[in-house]
Amino acid sequence: MLRIALPNKGRLAQDTRELFNDAGLEVRALSDRALTASLGGEFEAIFVRAQDIPEFVSDGAADVGITGLDLVAESDRALERRLDLGFGRCRLVVAARDESKVATLDDLCDGTRVATAFPGLTRRFFEAKEKKVEIVPVSGAAEIAPHLGIADVIVDLVSTGSTLKTNGLREVETVMGSTAHLVVAERRQGWTPDKERALDELVMALESVLRGRGQRYLMANVPRTKLEQVKEIIPGLNGPTIIDILNGGTYVAVHAVVPAASIYRTIAALKALGGAGILVTRIERLMQ
Ligand code: AMP
Repeated sequence: MLRIALPNKGRLAQDTRELFNDAGLEVRALSDRALTASLGGEFEAIFVRAQDIPEFVSDGAADVGITGLDLVAESDRALERRLDLGFGRCRLVVAARDESKVATLDDLCDGTRVATAFPGLTRRFFEAKEKKVEIVPVSGAAEIAPHLGIADVIVDLVSTGSTLKTNGLREVETVMGSTAHLVVAERRQGWTPDKERALDELVMALESVLRGRGQRYLMANVPRTKLEQVKEIIPGLNGPTIIDILNGGTYVAVHAVVPAASIYRTIAALKALGGAGILVTRIERLMQ
């Protein structure tokens, strides 16, 4: 059995569950409040707080964990980052009050009070910058601390930036960027080859879903005479697949995997070459 620690609530929980579902590892929980669930095959999930996951994985209470890179860094545990899952994107930043004179870190004097729910990361960040600050640990809502007069600046997570803005704060510097990651212990004592293989299979399954999400499968009928130009527009994974069409006349079908982000441009370019019958579908999994 490979025991996987998944976030039980918060920003990462829903995206994680969707990713596992898409990878065919559906959560088969007995109830919504179940703390463990089978994911099918040799995979078992335990649902815990995202901030506890680094510790659980490094202690061996779980074999694998899904959590934010910010929490991994804060824990300072010896964890290997096996896969960037791309969601839960945010930045840990130093922020000051709008009206403060702090524009860069150089403006922070010794003894500056920093409110944060990330005391470890914050301490290490300022030590590396050779700044002597006083950490004011809070468990959340650090944004209020400068207004209460208990801190001069904060170190907090930012996604859209609207929370900072609403609370009259502005970013001064980025400490780190973060996304959800799949992590395992660096030293996996007692792991059998079967367990390592199960981990590789899990990583491959999730990776193939993530890769597929950023791509689309495109099919179009194009004039045979335009194939050279079509190849420029849709190189695909190994060049497009060209298929004869029964009674297609001067037209052939081309199939290719194309980046989802630029699909509209690709379609417009194909149409300009006389492309017709253009079809775009999602890709469930993409192995390389
Ligand atoms: P925003 O207003 O979008 O910048 O979000 C900021 C608020 O959401 C802060 O309270 C953060 O602590 C929290 N937050 C933003 N992104 C994340 C994340 N990926 N994981 C956990 N908390 C986050």
